[in-house]
Amino acid sequence: MNQSTKQCLKPLLFLLAALGGFSLARAEPIPVFVSVLPQKYFVERVGGDRVSVNVMVGPGQNPHIYEPMPKQMAQLAKAKIYYRIGVSFETVWMEHIKAANPAMRIIDCQEGIELHPMARAEELFSSDSIEKISSQGGHRHGRLDPHSWTSPPLVKIIAAHIRDSLIQADPAHQAEFQTHYARLAEDLDRLDQTIRQLLAPLRGKSFMTFHPSWGYFAATYGLKQIPIEIEGKEPGAKTLARLIELAERENSRVILVQQQFSRRLAETVARAIGAKVMIADPLAYDYSRNLRQVAEALAQAMR
Ligand code: ZN
Repeated sequence: MNQSTKQCLKPLLFLLAALGGFSLARAEPIPVFVSVLPQKYFVERVGGDRVSVNVMVGPGQNPHIYEPMPKQMAQLAKAKIYYRIGVSFETVWMEHIKAANPAMRIIDCQEGIELHPMARAEELFSSDSIEKISSQGGHRHGRLDPHSWTSPPLVKIIAAHIRDSLIQADPAHQAEFQTHYARLAEDLDRLDQTIRQLLAPLRGKSFMTFHPSWGYFAATYGLKQIPIEIEGKEPGAKTLARLIELAERENSRVILVQQQFSRRLAETVARAIGAKVMIADPLAYDYSRNLRQVAEALAQAMR
């Protein structure tokens, strides 16, 4: 292209840029809903400014017992997509959520992820008690553990569902969603590598947690999670005594707690075994930074 052609094209390019800017300003972001804050982070990473994300369970709230506010139920009427992730308030509310907006697409972020049953400390006690529990037939019938997002490789599956659903909702911006997804997937790979290196020396070791939110994290990085809470309830005195015994045998040095649950019992156990209580929030918005910090603190505390 010679210089004069370039000069001729200039006004045309300006016009195109102006038109582009105009249509950009007019494009309304796709209104969507998610259940928990890490999902908001994932949807915003993939959707950029082409989505506006409403979150059901806000900072500090507990997704196991949450009840949507009337205002949120009203906002659902405008949403195009609901991203579910398997947390227990969804089970109670999903029919109401669907009824609030029958045209809204419901995307299951966990599709394709092999879910584990919720962790129960009994399964880690001596093998004879495991047999006893098994023969009672109940222990595998518990609900599935929804906290899959604590494993960065699994977040790539979640994010792929988000990418595909956004492409379907807004096909004109397919390339953009694909690029954003690729960038997020790269970040997740890097995060996974960092955590793997941090925790490699601790393989096979165990940590305690009040609420069993870290099962997929533990499985990904070769650690054992010993939960104090059992199916949403505090253990009785006898189970607690066995838990303390188990934690001593396993030499657990750290107990994870999160702000959404009481810390009292964790502190009692910590005193009994001389472990450290550490705050680790699986529901923080800033996913990568939070997970890296949890891994760093764990590596330090378990050393
Ligand atoms: Zn939970």
